Formats: sequence, structure tokens, C-alpha cells
Amino acid sequence: MKEPPMSKTLFEKIAAREIKADIVYEDELVLAFRDINPQAPTHVLIVPKKPIPRIDQAATTDQNLLGHLLLKAAEVAAKVGLQASGYRLVINNGRDGGESVPHLHCHILGGRQMTWPPG
Ligand code: 5GP
Repeated sequence: MKEPPMSKTLFEKIAAREIKADIVYEDELVLAFRDINPQAPTHVLIVPKKPIPRIDQAATTDQNLLGHLLLKAAEVAAKVGLQASGYRLVINNGRDGGESVPHLHCHILGGRQMTWPPG
């Protein structure tokens, strides 16, 4: 029997322009856009276009993609003006991590002093 087609994740719909977002960077592998509910003056999400649900479920075959994601996170942070002041990258995984969208994403947060420990 044929598997039913998987429904698109929220971030796949943003990549497909089915849901509007303020996109700040895109290439063939990743997409970066401003968070709808910013937790800092600058809050951008960078996601792989491949819908890996969370870092827990990434495979060794995703190694190049994950490296690309991190390198592009730094580029995007510079592009949105955070290079000089600094910024925080965050990946939430699962319930205790505070993950709410099951499509791997890295938060780029900046424009204010971050605190430690995180909440
Ligand atoms: P998580 O809590 O899973 O680490 O992060 C998910 C993030 O996605 C949250 O910061 C949330 O504000 C953001 N988000 C949820 N829905 C949308 C949306 O429709 N558009 C945008 N741009 N961001 C969203």
C-alpha cells in the first residue's frame, strides 16, 4: 500500500511561500527568517529546508547540512547587524528544551545582553 504524503511542516510552508515571513537569507539548503514572536530586538530563525524534526533525529548523512546551517547562521547574524555586538544561537530539542515547532531550527538572538543561565 502507498504511504499517504507527509504534510508539510510550518517551516516548509514558509519556504514554499504558503505562509508569509520576513525572509532574510535563502539558498538551496537553508532558509532564514524573522521570528514572529521575537524574544530579543533581533530574532531570526535559520532552518534546513530538509524537514529534520529536531537535532535528536539528525543522521550522520546530515553532517554537511548541519555544518552549512551553523556557518550560515554566523553569516546571517552578520547580515542582520549582530557581528560586532555578539549574539546567541539556540537549538531547542524536545519538551524540556522548549521545542514548539517540530522542524529543526536554530534561533539567532541579539540586540541585547543575553543572560546566563538561560530560562
Ligand atoms: P521553538 O520553540 O520550537 O524552539 O521555536 C519555534 C519558533 O518559531 C518560536 O520562536 C516561534 O515564535 C516561531 N514561530 C512559530 N510560528 C511562526 C510563524 O508562523 N512564523 C514565524 N516567522 N515564526 C514562527
